[in-house]
Amino acid sequence: MSGMSRVALVTGGARGIGYQCARRLGAEGAAIAILDVNQPQAEEAAESLAREGIRARGYGADVTSEEHVVEAVARVDSELGQPAILLNAAGILRRTRFLEITVAEWDAVIDVSLKGTFVCSKVCLPAMIEAGWGRIVNFSSTAGKSVSTLGGAHYTAAKAAVLGLTRAIAKEVAHAGVCVNAVCPGMIDTEMVHEFCSDADLERYARSFPVGRLGQPSDVAALVNFVCSHEAGYITGAALDINGGDLMI
Ligand code: NAD
Repeated sequence: MSGMSRVALVTGGARGIGYQCARRLGAEGAAIAILDVNQPQAEEAAESLAREGIRARGYGADVTSEEHVVEAVARVDSELGQPAILLNAAGILRRTRFLEITVAEWDAVIDVSLKGTFVCSKVCLPAMIEAGWGRIVNFSSTAGKSVSTLGGAHYTAAKAAVLGLTRAIAKEVAHAGVCVNAVCPGMIDTEMVHEFCSDADLERYARSFPVGRLGQPSDVAALVNFVCSHEAGYITGAALDINGGDLMI
């Protein structure tokens, strides 16, 4: 992020990929707002970043609630400043096979990834447009380009929809210096995958990828850090693969 003193808002940043992205942007000089439905963990994550010398605060909010997000972003604005960078990392995975997916579970999976990305982008964009600079990174998946290894149809559908939303927003705000991209990680070694997959299966998947290992959250953080930099100003509306060669298209 080339040492810029900016505010980055990271949804789902209490753990996993979001947390490591927050840590990387913070190490490069950004102030970090961790926004997560798990408020105690968001606060702990911010404290842990603060111990590394990063200016960080944790906020409890459900990304699917416009009211929560508006209120949290107002607090971020008064405590850290308006976010110029937004990472929409909040997401939930469910493995349920298609015929067993209930409408409630369908809604939950689609809402966190898709509605959450819509709501947070809508709330944060006006300040970016006014400032004439901004970066939004949305979290799709290889699932969004192909089909999920672990997740059900709702997860694949949500991650595919995030790619369409990314392109549509990118097209509308590019003129204002705001770049909007999606990252499409393969299988990344986080609690999310460990909660839904045995260690033996994960090892088997890892061996099957050309690079021969699972991705680490820090791998994704390095890509996200570049996408959020000034140098990445000509990248927008893209869906950037990071999957150890598991999906080559
Ligand atoms: P994770 O489960 O470790 O972290 C997700 C975070 O999102 C959690 O802290 C959780 O509390 C938060 N969250 C969930 N629902 C929320 C809501 N309604 N409002 C606010 N916060 C909420 O997941 P991860 O593995 O770090 O994945 C991060 C993102 O990357 C997700 O969107 C996921 O779908 C995507 N992704 C992950 C992988 C992978 O293999 N881990 C691969 C591709 C894409």
